[in-house]
Amino acid sequence: METHGLLIGGEWRAAAETLPVINPSDGAVVGRIARGTAADIDAAVAAGQAALEGAWGRVDAAARGRLLLRMAELIRRDAEMLAGLESADVGKPLKQARADAAACARYFEFYGGAADKVHGDTIPYQDGYTIMTVWEPHGVTGHIVPWNYPMQMIGRTVAGALTMGNAVVLKPAEDASLSALALGRLFQEAGFPAGAVNIVTGLGEEAGAALTAHPGIGHISFTGSPEVGTLVQAAAARNTIPVTLELGGKSPQVVFADADLETAATTVTAAIVQNAGQTCSAGSRVLIEDRIFDAFVDTLAARFNGLQVGPADRDLDVGPVINAQQKARVEGYLAIAARDGLRVAGQGAIASNAPPAGFYVKPTLIADVPPDHVLAQEEIFGPVLVAIRVRDEAEAVRIANGTAYGLVSGVWTADLGRALRMARKIRTGQVFVNNYGAGGGVELPFGGMKRSGHGREKGFAALHGFATLKTVAIRH
Ligand code: NAD
Repeated sequence: METHGLLIGGEWRAAAETLPVINPSDGAVVGRIARGTAADIDAAVAAGQAALEGAWGRVDAAARGRLLLRMAELIRRDAEMLAGLESADVGKPLKQARADAAACARYFEFYGGAADKVHGDTIPYQDGYTIMTVWEPHGVTGHIVPWNYPMQMIGRTVAGALTMGNAVVLKPAEDASLSALALGRLFQEAGFPAGAVNIVTGLGEEAGAALTAHPGIGHISFTGSPEVGTLVQAAAARNTIPVTLELGGKSPQVVFADADLETAATTVTAAIVQNAGQTCSAGSRVLIEDRIFDAFVDTLAARFNGLQVGPADRDLDVGPVINAQQKARVEGYLAIAARDGLRVAGQGAIASNAPPAGFYVKPTLIADVPPDHVLAQEEIFGPVLVAIRVRDEAEAVRIANGTAYGLVSGVWTADLGRALRMARKIRTGQVFVNNYGAGGGVELPFGGMKRSGHGREKGFAALHGFATLKTVAIRH
């Protein structure tokens, strides 16, 4: 059982206290991570500042890009090891963890290629002036990521920040830090100067809170729950620094009668059971046009009834959820559904030989859920899909927009005019027409509206969020 340290200023440091690493597939303790403290965060921020004043600050944009591209190569080289770690740590089936490793490499590749292509402008102004704008790094940036897709989140946020020349302090989630630590070793091997990337594992309310409140941080990228996101924004406000919040969702998929219903059923099912429903952009509500409601629910139910749940290394359709608390949370929502007499239309099965101490829940389809019911309003963060009946386009838009969230949506129809009207009226950061997620494309700007957060990560446009614009006015 390995005990992992903290990466600060290019050195691995042991911590006085540690936290257990628990395998969600069987509940076993498989290692320990450092319980980083506020003092460790101080040291990591200082190491980042020293790197910016030293070797890292002297690495020009093209050379930063080459380092990121080297990182992409190393992630691909070690993809099987990284996927194995992520699968065991998060409980996700191996094929999903492999896809996450590939996506992580792609983030470094995409941003590596962009590093020397972000430039400012010259601005026409009065005679006798030359005005130019320059994109500069924020300085030391703080990155707090959740446990559901650690590698993808690190690719998305850390690669973007490094591209723009920031020094990074990363606080991974206490429930899944192993891939972050493995990536830490790859950053060193790739040749990033000491202090360019610092990793402090630990508890959110300790290391996480210390990072967000730190006066030496120039920007915070937070991915996690809306509750903690609000605390992070308040902490950033006290230091008057910008923050990107990637929070939760209650994402709708609207299925009209003229859609390709087979493809829609496959995608709608996959979009809620992937990662056991623990995906910010999970399509957790399906809004179905009245005249196909019963038939489409039956089609979905057949898909749900065929789902197999089991240990991550069995590579079935669905793995365990992350921990006992999350299992209790999902089961709590299923109990509310039973109490309120909601109809379970379809349900997957837990493999008979799944270890009893693992955190398994059955993927469940619940039909005819009133749009204002708690199951149709709150983020369950588990494999639970609620089906809601809609009469027409106008009602579909009203219900799609009728939650506190606004992260992602899907529209299924053969009518291009309707698709475009829906895309304009639905208030989410991404709208997918006749697909959901576009394969997770790194190139697609991503982020929320409303309680789903603000700021964008992924895509070229997101790079401006990791930098600050300076105007230089020269009189001559
Ligand atoms: P969480 O908010 O509990 O934890 C996320 C991270 O924040 C962890 O690293 C945790 O240690 C840290 N944290 C906790 N308390 C903190 C504090 N007081 N100060 C600073 N940091 C603190 O969320 P979670 O349960 O790990 O993740 C699930 C949530 O994340 C869901 O709501 C999900 O939708 C959301 N999420 C959003 C996206 C997105 O891109 N929009 C992606 C993945 C997950």
